[in-house]
Amino acid sequence: MSLGTPEYDVCVVGSGAAGGVMAKELSEGGAKVIQLEGGRQVLPNELLTHKWPYELPYRGFRSEKQDIYYQGDVRNSVRYHDSDDVGVDRIRVVGGRTVHWNAVTLRYAARDFREWSLNGIEDDWPITYDELAPYYDRIEQMIGVTGQDDGLEILPGGHHYLPPLPWRCSEHILHRTLKTMGIPMIPVRKAVLTKPYDNRPPCHYCGHCMDGCDVAAVFNSATAMIPKAQATGNFTLRQNALARQVLVDKEGRARGVSFVDTTTHQEESVRARIVVLCCATVETARLLLNSRSPQHPNGLANSNGLVGRYLNGHLGSGVRIYLEELQGLKPTNQDGATDHAFIPRYNHLSGKRDYVGGWDIQVNFASYMFPQQAGRIPGYGADFKARVRRMQSGYLMMGWFCKIVARPENRVTVDPDRTDANGIPIAVVHFRFGENDLALWQDSVKGISEIGQNLKGEFFLDSTKNPAGFASHEVGTARMGKDPRKSVLNAYCQAHEVKNLFVTDGSAFTTSAEKNPTLTIMALSLRAADYIKEQRRKGEL
Ligand SMILES: Cc1cc2nc3c(=O)[nH]c(=O)nc-3n(C[C@H](O)[C@H](O)[C@H](O)COP(=O)(O)OP(=O)(O)OC[C@H]3O[C@@H](n4cnc5c(N)ncnc54)[C@H](O)[C@@H]3O)c2cc1C
Ligand code: SF4
Repeated sequence: MSLGTPEYDVCVVGSGAAGGVMAKELSEGGAKVIQLEGGRQVLPNELLTHKWPYELPYRGFRSEKQDIYYQGDVRNSVRYHDSDDVGVDRIRVVGGRTVHWNAVTLRYAARDFREWSLNGIEDDWPITYDELAPYYDRIEQMIGVTGQDDGLEILPGGHHYLPPLPWRCSEHILHRTLKTMGIPMIPVRKAVLTKPYDNRPPCHYCGHCMDGCDVAAVFNSATAMIPKAQATGNFTLRQNALARQVLVDKEGRARGVSFVDTTTHQEESVRARIVVLCCATVETARLLLNSRSPQHPNGLANSNGLVGRYLNGHLGSGVRIYLEELQGLKPTNQDGATDHAFIPRYNHLSGKRDYVGGWDIQVNFASYMFPQQAGRIPGYGADFKARVRRMQSGYLMMGWFCKIVARPENRVTVDPDRTDANGIPIAVVHFRFGENDLALWQDSVKGISEIGQNLKGEFFLDSTKNPAGFASHEVGTARMGKDPRKSVLNAYCQAHEVKNLFVTDGSAFTTSAEKNPTLTIMALSLRAADYIKEQRRKGEL
Protein backbone atom coordinates (compact mmCIF):
# COMPACT_ATOMS: atom_id res chain seq x y z
CA MET A 1 0.00 0.00 0.00
CA SER A 2 1.51 3.34 -0.99
CA LEU A 3 1.07 6.36 1.20
CA GLY A 4 -1.19 9.00 -0.28
CA THR A 5 -0.04 12.58 -0.84
CA PRO A 6 0.11 15.36 0.17
CA GLU A 7 1.56 15.26 3.65
CA TYR A 8 -0.53 17.04 6.27
CA ASP A 9 0.81 18.61 9.42
CA VAL A 10 -1.77 16.80 11.51
CA CYS A 11 -4.20 13.93 11.00
CA VAL A 12 -7.04 13.97 13.55
CA VAL A 13 -9.05 10.74 13.69
CA GLY A 14 -12.65 11.21 14.87
CA SER A 15 -14.77 14.36 14.84
CA GLY A 16 -16.67 14.22 18.14
CA ALA A 17 -16.19 16.32 21.27
CA ALA A 18 -12.40 15.83 21.34
CA GLY A 19 -11.79 15.80 17.58
CA GLY A 20 -13.87 18.92 16.92
CA VAL A 21 -11.87 21.02 19.39
CA MET A 22 -8.55 19.67 18.10
CA ALA A 23 -9.34 20.25 14.41
CA LYS A 24 -10.63 23.77 15.00
CA GLU A 25 -7.76 24.86 17.21
CA LEU A 26 -4.97 23.46 15.06
CA SER A 27 -6.33 24.67 11.74
CA GLU A 28 -6.98 28.11 13.24
CA GLY A 29 -3.38 27.97 14.44
CA GLY A 30 -2.17 27.58 10.84
CA ALA A 31 -1.55 23.80 10.67
CA LYS A 32 -2.72 21.87 7.62
CA VAL A 33 -5.16 19.41 9.16
CA ILE A 34 -6.98 16.40 7.78
CA GLN A 35 -9.75 14.84 9.83
CA LEU A 36 -10.66 11.23 9.17
CA GLU A 37 -14.20 10.49 10.28
CA GLY A 38 -15.68 7.01 10.00
CA GLY A 39 -19.23 8.34 9.50
CA ARG A 40 -20.93 10.87 7.29
CA GLN A 41 -22.60 14.14 8.20
CA VAL A 42 -26.32 14.01 9.01
CA LEU A 43 -28.10 17.12 7.76
CA PRO A 44 -30.89 18.90 9.68
CA ASN A 45 -33.52 17.86 7.12
CA GLU A 46 -32.77 14.19 7.83
CA LEU A 47 -33.49 14.41 11.57
CA LEU A 48 -36.46 12.58 13.05
CA THR A 49 -36.36 14.79 16.14
CA HIS A 50 -39.84 16.28 15.82
CA LYS A 51 -41.65 13.20 14.54
CA TRP A 52 -44.61 12.05 16.59
CA PRO A 53 -44.62 8.43 17.77
CA TYR A 54 -47.47 7.60 15.37
CA GLU A 55 -45.28 8.72 12.44
CA LEU A 56 -42.62 6.10 13.21
CA PRO A 57 -42.84 2.33 12.64
CA TYR A 58 -41.78 1.48 16.24
CA ARG A 59 -43.43 4.55 17.78
CA GLY A 60 -40.00 5.96 18.69
CA PHE A 61 -38.81 2.82 20.49
CA ARG A 62 -35.73 0.77 19.49
CA SER A 63 -33.64 3.97 19.25
CA GLU A 64 -35.51 4.76 16.05
CA LYS A 65 -34.69 8.48 16.14
CA GLN A 66 -30.98 7.91 16.85
CA ASP A 67 -30.31 5.10 14.36
CA ILE A 68 -29.20 7.55 11.68
CA TYR A 69 -26.17 8.41 13.84
CA TYR A 70 -25.02 4.81 14.27
CA GLN A 71 -23.93 4.19 10.71
CA GLY A 72 -22.62 1.09 8.97
CA ASP A 73 -22.21 -1.93 11.20
CA VAL A 74 -20.98 0.03 14.22
CA ARG A 75 -23.63 -1.38 16.56
CA ASN A 76 -22.53 -4.95 15.83
CA SER A 77 -18.77 -4.56 15.65
CA VAL A 78 -18.12 -5.12 19.36
CA ARG A 79 -18.53 -8.03 21.71
CA TYR A 80 -18.64 -8.49 25.48
CA HIS A 81 -16.68 -11.21 27.23
CA ASP A 82 -17.07 -12.16 30.87
CA SER A 83 -18.80 -8.86 31.61
CA ASP A 84 -21.36 -7.45 34.00
CA ASP A 85 -24.35 -5.51 32.70
CA VAL A 86 -22.54 -2.75 30.82
CA GLY A 87 -22.91 -1.31 27.35
CA VAL A 88 -20.35 0.79 25.52
CA ASP A 89 -21.63 3.55 23.26
CA ARG A 90 -19.76 3.77 19.94
CA ILE A 91 -21.17 6.09 17.35
CA ARG A 92 -20.28 6.65 13.69
CA VAL A 93 -21.23 10.09 12.39
CA VAL A 94 -19.64 13.48 11.80
CA GLY A 95 -19.81 15.22 15.19
CA GLY A 96 -19.58 12.03 17.21
CA ARG A 97 -21.92 11.68 20.17
CA THR A 98 -22.28 15.45 20.46
CA VAL A 99 -24.90 15.14 17.70
CA HIS A 100 -27.33 13.79 20.26
CA TRP A 101 -25.85 14.29 23.72
CA ASN A 102 -27.61 15.91 26.63
CA ALA A 103 -24.85 18.52 26.99
CA VAL A 104 -24.55 18.62 30.79
CA THR A 105 -21.14 20.21 31.22
CA LEU A 106 -19.48 19.79 34.61
CA ARG A 107 -15.97 20.63 35.74
CA TYR A 108 -14.12 18.03 37.76
CA ALA A 109 -13.27 19.23 41.28
CA ALA A 110 -9.69 19.59 42.53
CA ARG A 111 -10.16 16.42 44.61
CA ASP A 112 -11.19 14.41 41.51
CA PHE A 113 -7.63 14.63 40.17
CA ARG A 114 -6.09 13.30 43.41
CA GLU A 115 -7.66 9.93 44.29
CA TRP A 116 -4.36 8.36 45.36
CA SER A 117 -3.24 11.26 47.54
CA LEU A 118 -6.62 11.75 49.18
CA ASN A 119 -8.13 8.26 49.30
CA GLY A 120 -5.30 5.82 48.67
CA ILE A 121 -6.97 4.31 45.61
CA GLU A 122 -6.31 4.47 41.88
CA ASP A 123 -3.74 7.11 40.86
CA ASP A 124 -3.38 10.87 40.81
CA TRP A 125 -3.72 12.58 37.46
CA PRO A 126 -0.52 14.12 36.16
CA ILE A 127 -2.29 17.50 36.12
CA THR A 128 -4.16 19.45 38.78
CA TYR A 129 -7.46 21.29 38.68
CA ASP A 130 -5.60 24.61 38.67
CA GLU A 131 -3.71 23.61 35.55
CA LEU A 132 -6.89 22.60 33.73
CA ALA A 133 -9.06 25.51 34.98
CA PRO A 134 -8.01 28.02 32.27
CA TYR A 135 -8.96 25.45 29.63
CA TYR A 136 -12.34 24.84 31.27
CA ASP A 137 -12.83 28.62 31.07
CA ARG A 138 -11.97 28.76 27.39
CA ILE A 139 -14.07 25.73 26.44
CA GLU A 140 -17.10 27.04 28.32
CA GLN A 141 -16.80 30.30 26.41
CA MET A 142 -16.31 28.50 23.12
CA ILE A 143 -19.33 26.20 23.36
CA GLY A 144 -21.78 28.41 25.31
CA VAL A 145 -22.85 27.04 28.69
CA THR A 146 -25.98 27.99 30.62
CA GLY A 147 -25.74 27.98 34.41
CA GLN A 148 -24.04 29.85 37.20
CA ASP A 149 -21.16 29.59 39.64
CA ASP A 150 -22.76 28.14 42.77
CA GLY A 151 -19.64 28.43 44.92
CA LEU A 152 -19.39 24.68 45.50
CA GLU A 153 -16.04 22.97 46.13
CA ILE A 154 -17.37 19.72 44.68
CA LEU A 155 -18.43 21.39 41.43
CA PRO A 156 -16.23 24.38 40.63
CA GLY A 157 -17.88 27.15 38.63
CA GLY A 158 -16.69 29.18 35.67
CA HIS A 159 -16.91 32.84 34.71
CA HIS A 160 -18.81 32.86 31.44
CA TYR A 161 -22.27 31.42 31.85
CA LEU A 162 -25.35 32.20 29.79
CA PRO A 163 -28.52 32.87 31.83
CA PRO A 164 -29.62 29.72 33.71
CA LEU A 165 -32.72 27.75 32.75
CA PRO A 166 -35.68 28.50 35.03
CA TRP A 167 -37.05 25.67 37.16
CA ARG A 168 -40.41 24.07 36.54
CA CYS A 169 -42.98 23.28 39.27
CA SER A 170 -41.69 19.78 40.00
CA GLU A 171 -38.15 21.12 40.32
CA HIS A 172 -39.27 23.76 42.84
CA ILE A 173 -40.98 21.06 44.88
CA LEU A 174 -37.89 18.87 44.73
CA HIS A 175 -35.73 21.82 45.82
CA ARG A 176 -38.03 22.51 48.78
CA THR A 177 -37.72 18.90 49.92
CA LEU A 178 -33.96 18.68 49.40
CA LYS A 179 -33.47 21.82 51.47
CA THR A 180 -34.98 20.05 54.47
CA MET A 181 -32.52 17.20 53.90
CA GLY A 182 -29.46 19.48 53.59
CA ILE A 183 -28.90 18.51 49.95
CA PRO A 184 -27.99 21.34 47.54
CA MET A 185 -29.72 21.66 44.19
CA ILE A 186 -28.49 24.11 41.52
CA PRO A 187 -29.46 25.28 38.02
CA VAL A 188 -28.09 22.78 35.53
CA ARG A 189 -24.90 23.63 33.66
CA LYS A 190 -25.49 22.69 30.10
CA ALA A 191 -24.12 23.57 26.64
CA VAL A 192 -27.52 24.82 25.53
CA LEU A 193 -28.02 28.42 24.46
CA THR A 194 -30.49 30.49 26.46
CA LYS A 195 -29.80 33.47 24.21
CA PRO A 196 -28.26 33.88 20.74
CA TYR A 197 -24.55 33.08 20.91
CA ASP A 198 -21.74 32.46 18.45
CA ASN A 199 -24.12 32.87 15.47
CA ARG A 200 -26.37 30.14 16.82
CA PRO A 201 -30.00 30.66 17.87
CA PRO A 202 -31.31 30.06 21.37
CA CYS A 203 -33.15 26.91 22.44
CA HIS A 204 -36.85 26.64 21.54
CA TYR A 205 -37.48 24.23 24.43
CA CYS A 206 -38.65 21.21 22.51
CA GLY A 207 -37.02 18.75 24.93
CA HIS A 208 -35.38 16.68 22.21
CA CYS A 209 -31.64 17.26 22.69
CA MET A 210 -30.93 13.53 22.75
CA ASP A 211 -32.64 13.01 19.39
CA GLY A 212 -30.58 15.78 17.73
CA CYS A 213 -31.09 19.55 17.70
CA ASP A 214 -32.29 20.86 14.33
CA VAL A 215 -31.33 24.48 15.07
CA ALA A 216 -27.89 23.93 16.66
CA ALA A 217 -28.94 25.48 19.99
CA VAL A 218 -27.20 22.65 21.80
CA PHE A 219 -23.44 22.46 21.23
CA ASN A 220 -22.51 19.93 18.57
CA SER A 221 -19.04 19.52 17.06
CA ALA A 222 -20.49 19.13 13.57
CA THR A 223 -22.27 22.48 13.65
CA ALA A 224 -20.13 24.55 16.04
CA MET A 225 -16.52 23.37 15.60
CA ILE A 226 -16.00 21.85 12.17
CA PRO A 227 -17.40 24.87 10.25
CA LYS A 228 -14.82 27.03 12.07
CA ALA A 229 -12.03 24.68 11.01
CA GLN A 230 -13.39 24.74 7.45
CA ALA A 231 -13.43 28.54 7.41
CA THR A 232 -9.63 28.62 7.86
CA GLY A 233 -8.87 27.03 4.48
CA ASN A 234 -6.39 24.78 6.31
CA PHE A 235 -8.77 21.92 6.95
CA THR A 236 -9.91 18.84 5.06
CA LEU A 237 -12.73 16.67 6.35
CA ARG A 238 -12.68 13.15 4.97
CA GLN A 239 -16.05 11.54 5.76
CA ASN A 240 -16.72 7.77 5.62
CA ALA A 241 -13.02 7.19 6.32
CA LEU A 242 -12.67 4.49 8.93
CA ALA A 243 -9.13 4.32 10.32
CA ARG A 244 -7.60 0.87 10.27
CA GLN A 245 -4.08 1.48 11.60
CA VAL A 246 -1.72 4.23 12.62
CA LEU A 247 1.31 3.76 10.36
CA VAL A 248 4.84 4.18 11.69
CA ASP A 249 8.29 4.87 10.29
CA LYS A 250 11.47 2.87 10.91
CA GLU A 251 11.99 4.59 14.26
CA GLY A 252 8.47 3.74 15.31
CA ARG A 253 7.14 7.30 15.04
CA ALA A 254 3.70 7.88 13.55
CA ARG A 255 3.87 8.77 9.85
CA GLY A 256 0.20 8.58 8.85
CA VAL A 257 -3.01 6.61 9.06
CA SER A 258 -4.44 3.88 6.85
CA PHE A 259 -8.20 3.80 6.42
CA VAL A 260 -11.06 2.20 4.55
CA ASP A 261 -13.39 4.37 2.51
CA THR A 262 -16.61 2.75 3.69
CA THR A 263 -18.52 3.80 0.57
CA THR A 264 -16.04 2.34 -1.99
CA HIS A 265 -14.34 -0.21 0.32
CA GLN A 266 -11.01 1.02 -1.02
CA GLU A 267 -7.96 0.94 1.25
CA GLU A 268 -6.33 4.37 1.42
CA SER A 269 -3.88 6.25 3.61
CA VAL A 270 -2.80 9.74 4.55
CA ARG A 271 0.59 11.03 5.57
CA ALA A 272 0.91 13.34 8.53
CA ARG A 273 3.66 14.63 10.79
CA ILE A 274 1.45 14.35 13.86
CA VAL A 275 -1.45 11.96 14.54
CA VAL A 276 -4.17 12.74 17.09
CA LEU A 277 -6.66 10.03 18.03
CA CYS A 278 -10.15 11.17 19.07
CA CYS A 279 -12.17 8.03 18.31
CA ALA A 280 -13.58 7.76 21.87
CA THR A 281 -12.50 5.37 24.58
CA VAL A 282 -13.32 1.99 23.07
CA GLU A 283 -12.48 2.71 19.43
CA THR A 284 -9.22 4.49 20.24
CA ALA A 285 -8.05 1.46 22.23
CA ARG A 286 -9.12 -0.73 19.32
CA LEU A 287 -7.17 1.38 16.83
CA LEU A 288 -4.02 1.42 18.96
CA LEU A 289 -4.18 -2.34 19.55
CA ASN A 290 -4.80 -2.97 15.85
CA SER A 291 -1.76 -0.79 14.97
CA ARG A 292 0.78 -3.59 15.34
CA SER A 293 4.11 -3.32 13.54
CA PRO A 294 7.60 -4.79 13.94
CA GLN A 295 8.44 -1.60 15.87
CA HIS A 296 5.34 -1.95 18.09
CA PRO A 297 4.49 -5.68 18.14
CA ASN A 298 2.09 -5.26 21.08
CA GLY A 299 0.10 -2.45 19.45
CA LEU A 300 1.06 1.21 19.27
CA ALA A 301 2.34 2.92 22.43
CA ASN A 302 1.70 -0.31 24.29
CA SER A 303 4.99 -1.89 25.29
CA ASN A 304 3.82 -1.79 28.94
CA GLY A 305 0.57 -3.56 27.98
CA LEU A 306 -1.65 -0.79 29.39
CA VAL A 307 -3.54 0.22 26.24
CA GLY A 308 -7.14 -0.89 26.68
CA ARG A 309 -6.86 -1.31 30.46
CA TYR A 310 -8.61 0.71 33.21
CA LEU A 311 -11.85 0.90 31.23
CA ASN A 312 -14.48 2.60 33.38
CA GLY A 313 -17.44 4.95 33.14
CA HIS A 314 -20.54 5.51 35.22
CA LEU A 315 -23.02 3.21 36.82
CA GLY A 316 -26.46 4.45 37.62
CA SER A 317 -30.17 4.21 37.21
CA GLY A 318 -33.32 6.33 37.34
CA VAL A 319 -36.47 6.98 39.36
CA ARG A 320 -39.81 8.38 38.39
CA ILE A 321 -42.01 10.09 40.95
CA TYR A 322 -45.57 11.30 40.43
CA LEU A 323 -45.89 14.20 42.85
CA GLU A 324 -49.18 14.28 44.70
CA GLU A 325 -49.18 18.08 44.74
CA LEU A 326 -49.17 18.28 40.94
CA GLN A 327 -51.31 15.30 39.98
CA GLY A 328 -54.57 16.09 38.22
CA LEU A 329 -53.51 19.53 37.00
CA LYS A 330 -54.35 20.65 33.48
CA PRO A 331 -51.68 19.28 31.07
CA THR A 332 -49.12 21.90 30.07
CA ASN A 333 -46.05 21.72 27.87
CA GLN A 334 -43.10 21.35 30.23
CA ASP A 335 -40.57 19.81 27.85
CA GLY A 336 -38.05 22.61 28.27
CA ALA A 337 -34.42 21.93 27.40
CA THR A 338 -34.63 18.50 29.08
CA ASP A 339 -32.99 19.03 32.51
CA HIS A 340 -33.06 22.48 34.12
CA ALA A 341 -31.83 21.54 37.60
CA PHE A 342 -28.95 19.48 38.94
CA ILE A 343 -28.05 17.84 42.25
CA PRO A 344 -24.26 17.76 42.70
CA ARG A 345 -22.59 15.02 44.75
CA TYR A 346 -23.65 15.34 48.38
CA ASN A 347 -22.67 12.10 50.18
CA HIS A 348 -19.36 13.66 51.26
CA LEU A 349 -21.24 16.29 53.28
CA SER A 350 -22.38 13.82 55.93
CA GLY A 351 -19.23 12.10 57.09
CA LYS A 352 -16.90 9.40 55.87
CA ARG A 353 -18.25 6.30 54.14
CA ASP A 354 -16.86 2.79 53.92
CA TYR A 355 -16.34 3.26 50.20
CA VAL A 356 -14.80 5.94 48.01
CA GLY A 357 -16.64 8.26 45.61
CA GLY A 358 -20.17 9.51 45.21
CA TRP A 359 -23.06 10.13 42.87
CA ASP A 360 -24.80 13.12 41.37
CA ILE A 361 -28.32 13.42 40.06
CA GLN A 362 -29.69 14.81 36.81
CA VAL A 363 -33.28 15.94 36.99
CA ASN A 364 -36.01 15.63 34.37
CA PHE A 365 -34.01 14.62 31.32
CA ALA A 366 -36.52 12.04 30.14
CA SER A 367 -39.61 13.09 28.24
CA TYR A 368 -42.44 14.75 30.10
CA MET A 369 -44.88 13.54 27.50
CA PHE A 370 -44.49 9.78 27.56
CA PRO A 371 -46.73 8.06 30.16
CA GLN A 372 -44.02 5.90 31.73
CA GLN A 373 -46.33 4.98 34.57
CA ALA A 374 -48.76 3.15 32.28
CA GLY A 375 -46.53 0.07 32.28
CA ARG A 376 -46.05 0.14 36.03
CA ILE A 377 -49.49 0.46 37.54
CA PRO A 378 -52.09 -2.30 37.47
CA GLY A 379 -55.50 -2.01 35.82
CA TYR A 380 -57.18 -1.44 32.50
CA GLY A 381 -60.11 0.39 30.92
CA ALA A 382 -61.48 3.86 31.64
CA ASP A 383 -60.40 4.00 35.30
CA PHE A 384 -56.87 2.98 34.38
CA LYS A 385 -56.66 5.63 31.66
CA ALA A 386 -58.01 8.29 34.00
CA ARG A 387 -55.39 7.37 36.61
CA VAL A 388 -52.56 7.48 34.07
CA ARG A 389 -53.74 10.92 32.91
CA ARG A 390 -54.12 12.23 36.43
CA MET A 391 -50.61 11.07 37.42
CA GLN A 392 -48.89 12.53 34.36
CA SER A 393 -48.89 16.17 35.48
CA GLY A 394 -47.07 15.13 38.65
CA TYR A 395 -44.10 13.69 36.72
CA LEU A 396 -40.61 14.15 38.17
CA MET A 397 -37.67 12.11 36.94
CA MET A 398 -34.19 11.72 38.38
CA GLY A 399 -31.25 9.80 36.95
CA TRP A 400 -28.08 9.32 38.94
CA PHE A 401 -24.47 8.58 38.02
CA CYS A 402 -21.90 6.94 40.31
CA LYS A 403 -18.14 6.82 40.09
CA ILE A 404 -16.55 3.55 39.02
CA VAL A 405 -13.04 2.73 40.26
CA ALA A 406 -10.53 2.35 37.40
CA ARG A 407 -9.05 -1.17 37.60
CA PRO A 408 -6.54 -2.71 35.18
CA GLU A 409 -8.47 -5.98 34.75
CA ASN A 410 -11.37 -4.07 33.17
CA ARG A 411 -10.27 -3.62 29.63
CA VAL A 412 -10.78 -3.47 25.88
CA THR A 413 -8.98 -6.01 23.71
CA VAL A 414 -9.34 -6.82 20.01
CA ASP A 415 -10.55 -10.07 18.50
CA PRO A 416 -8.22 -11.12 15.68
CA ASP A 417 -10.72 -13.79 14.64
CA ARG A 418 -13.70 -11.49 14.22
CA THR A 419 -13.65 -8.48 11.95
CA ASP A 420 -16.20 -5.82 11.09
CA ALA A 421 -17.69 -5.25 7.63
CA ASN A 422 -14.43 -3.53 6.62
CA GLY A 423 -12.16 -6.36 7.73
CA ILE A 424 -10.95 -4.59 10.91
CA PRO A 425 -10.69 -6.71 14.09
CA ILE A 426 -13.49 -5.73 16.48
CA ALA A 427 -13.21 -4.54 20.07
CA VAL A 428 -13.95 -6.89 22.96
CA VAL A 429 -15.09 -5.45 26.30
CA HIS A 430 -14.20 -7.19 29.58
CA PHE A 431 -15.76 -5.53 32.61
CA ARG A 432 -16.72 -6.47 36.16
CA PHE A 433 -17.87 -4.08 38.88
CA GLY A 434 -15.59 -4.07 41.92
CA GLU A 435 -16.39 -4.06 45.65
CA ASN A 436 -16.21 -0.28 45.92
CA ASP A 437 -18.54 0.14 42.93
CA LEU A 438 -21.13 -2.17 44.47
CA ALA A 439 -20.96 -0.57 47.92
CA LEU A 440 -21.34 2.88 46.36
CA TRP A 441 -24.22 1.64 44.24
CA GLN A 442 -26.08 0.24 47.29
CA ASP A 443 -25.68 3.51 49.16
CA SER A 444 -26.80 5.54 46.15
CA VAL A 445 -30.02 3.47 45.88
CA LYS A 446 -30.61 4.11 49.59
CA GLY A 447 -29.92 7.82 49.12
CA ILE A 448 -32.27 8.18 46.15
CA SER A 449 -34.97 6.21 47.96
CA GLU A 450 -34.68 8.57 50.94
CA ILE A 451 -35.29 11.55 48.64
CA GLY A 452 -38.25 9.69 47.13
CA GLN A 453 -39.71 8.97 50.57
CA ASN A 454 -39.51 12.62 51.49
CA LEU A 455 -41.41 13.65 48.40
CA LYS A 456 -45.13 13.00 48.58
CA GLY A 457 -46.17 10.94 45.59
CA GLU A 458 -45.92 7.59 43.83
CA PHE A 459 -42.35 6.42 43.46
CA PHE A 460 -40.92 3.95 40.89
CA LEU A 461 -37.27 2.88 40.89
CA ASP A 462 -35.99 1.73 37.49
CA SER A 463 -33.69 -0.85 39.02
CA THR A 464 -32.60 -1.84 42.51
CA LYS A 465 -30.85 -5.18 42.20
CA ASN A 466 -27.91 -4.81 39.84
CA PRO A 467 -26.05 -1.77 38.67
CA ALA A 468 -25.65 -1.05 34.97
CA GLY A 469 -22.98 0.95 33.12
CA PHE A 470 -21.70 3.07 31.44
CA ALA A 471 -24.28 5.75 30.53
CA SER A 472 -22.25 6.65 27.40
CA HIS A 473 -19.49 7.94 29.70
CA GLU A 474 -16.68 5.44 28.99
CA VAL A 475 -13.15 6.60 29.80
CA GLY A 476 -9.71 5.35 30.76
CA THR A 477 -8.19 3.00 28.15
CA ALA A 478 -5.02 5.02 27.38
CA ARG A 479 -4.57 6.80 30.64
CA MET A 480 -2.37 9.75 31.41
CA GLY A 481 0.28 9.59 34.10
CA LYS A 482 3.67 10.82 35.14
CA ASP A 483 5.27 7.37 35.13
CA PRO A 484 5.65 5.82 31.64
CA ARG A 485 5.62 2.35 33.24
CA LYS A 486 2.14 2.94 34.67
CA SER A 487 0.48 5.01 31.95
CA VAL A 488 0.19 5.48 28.19
CA LEU A 489 0.12 9.28 27.88
CA ASN A 490 1.85 12.19 29.57
CA ALA A 491 0.09 15.24 30.97
CA TYR A 492 -0.39 16.69 27.46
CA CYS A 493 -2.09 13.54 26.13
CA GLN A 494 1.11 12.73 24.23
CA ALA A 495 2.12 9.06 24.04
CA HIS A 496 5.15 8.39 26.23
CA GLU A 497 6.55 6.07 23.57
CA VAL A 498 5.61 7.89 20.36
CA LYS A 499 6.33 11.60 20.53
CA ASN A 500 4.13 12.60 17.58
CA LEU A 501 1.08 10.61 18.70
CA PHE A 502 -1.65 12.15 20.88
CA VAL A 503 -4.91 10.79 22.31
CA THR A 504 -7.35 13.42 23.58
CA ASP A 505 -10.67 11.61 24.01
CA GLY A 506 -11.97 9.98 27.20
CA SER A 507 -9.28 7.28 26.93
CA ALA A 508 -6.86 9.76 28.49
CA PHE A 509 -8.65 9.94 31.88
CA THR A 510 -6.54 8.62 34.76
CA THR A 511 -9.63 8.14 36.94
CA SER A 512 -13.20 9.31 36.78
CA ALA A 513 -15.54 11.08 39.15
CA GLU A 514 -19.35 11.03 39.30
CA LYS A 515 -19.41 13.95 36.84
CA ASN A 516 -20.23 13.69 33.14
CA PRO A 517 -16.90 13.60 31.32
CA THR A 518 -17.25 15.67 28.17
CA LEU A 519 -16.30 19.14 29.40
CA THR A 520 -13.10 17.59 30.76
CA ILE A 521 -12.52 15.74 27.46
CA MET A 522 -12.79 19.04 25.57
CA ALA A 523 -10.56 20.90 28.07
CA LEU A 524 -7.88 18.20 27.75
CA SER A 525 -8.13 18.35 23.97
CA LEU A 526 -7.76 22.13 24.02
CA ARG A 527 -4.74 21.89 26.32
CA ALA A 528 -3.13 19.28 24.06
CA ALA A 529 -3.83 21.48 21.01
CA ASP A 530 -2.02 24.39 22.68
CA TYR A 531 0.89 22.11 23.46
CA ILE A 532 1.06 20.83 19.87
CA LYS A 533 1.03 24.41 18.56
CA GLU A 534 3.83 25.37 20.92
CA GLN A 535 5.92 22.29 20.09
CA ARG A 536 5.46 22.96 16.37
CA ARG A 537 6.54 26.56 16.86
CA LYS A 538 9.69 25.36 18.60
CA GLY A 539 10.32 22.81 15.85
CA GLU A 540 9.99 19.92 18.30
CA LEU A 541 7.17 18.22 16.39
C1 LIG B 1 -27.64 10.32 24.54
C2 LIG B 1 -26.34 10.82 25.09
C3 LIG B 1 -26.33 11.77 26.11
C4 LIG B 1 -25.13 12.24 26.61
N1 LIG B 1 -25.15 13.23 27.53
C5 LIG B 1 -24.00 13.73 28.01
C6 LIG B 1 -24.01 14.82 28.93
O1 LIG B 1 -25.06 15.33 29.28
N2 LIG B 1 -22.82 15.26 29.38
C7 LIG B 1 -21.63 14.70 29.03
O2 LIG B 1 -20.58 15.14 29.51
N3 LIG B 1 -21.60 13.68 28.14
C8 LIG B 1 -22.75 13.18 27.63
N4 LIG B 1 -22.71 12.17 26.72
C9 LIG B 1 -21.41 11.59 26.36
C10 LIG B 1 -20.67 12.43 25.34
O3 LIG B 1 -21.41 12.53 24.16
C11 LIG B 1 -19.31 11.82 25.11
O4 LIG B 1 -18.60 11.80 26.34
C12 LIG B 1 -18.46 12.61 24.13
O5 LIG B 1 -19.12 12.81 22.90
C13 LIG B 1 -17.16 11.85 23.89
O6 LIG B 1 -16.37 12.59 23.01
P1 LIG B 1 -15.28 11.87 22.12
O7 LIG B 1 -14.71 12.88 21.22
O8 LIG B 1 -14.36 11.12 23.03
O9 LIG B 1 -16.07 10.73 21.32
P2 LIG B 1 -17.30 10.82 20.33
O10 LIG B 1 -18.04 12.08 20.51
O11 LIG B 1 -18.05 9.55 20.48
O12 LIG B 1 -16.62 10.88 18.90
C14 LIG B 1 -15.83 9.84 18.39
C15 LIG B 1 -15.78 9.97 16.87
O13 LIG B 1 -14.79 9.11 16.33
C16 LIG B 1 -15.28 8.50 15.17
N5 LIG B 1 -14.52 7.26 14.99
C17 LIG B 1 -14.47 6.21 15.85
N6 LIG B 1 -13.61 5.28 15.37
C18 LIG B 1 -13.12 5.76 14.20
C19 LIG B 1 -12.18 5.27 13.26
N7 LIG B 1 -11.57 4.08 13.43
N8 LIG B 1 -11.92 6.02 12.17
C20 LIG B 1 -12.51 7.22 11.98
N9 LIG B 1 -13.40 7.74 12.86
C21 LIG B 1 -13.69 7.02 13.96
C22 LIG B 1 -16.75 8.30 15.44
O14 LIG B 1 -17.47 8.16 14.25
C23 LIG B 1 -17.09 9.58 16.19
O15 LIG B 1 -17.45 10.61 15.31
C24 LIG B 1 -23.90 11.71 26.14
C25 LIG B 1 -23.90 10.77 25.11
C26 LIG B 1 -25.10 10.33 24.58
C27 LIG B 1 -25.07 9.33 23.45
S1 SF4 C 1 -34.49 21.56 23.75
FE1 SF4 C 1 -33.40 23.28 22.80
S2 SF4 C 1 -31.30 22.59 22.56
FE2 SF4 C 1 -32.56 20.75 22.95
S3 SF4 C 1 -33.12 20.03 20.90
FE3 SF4 C 1 -34.77 21.41 21.53
S4 SF4 C 1 -34.16 23.43 20.71
FE4 SF4 C 1 -32.35 22.12 20.63
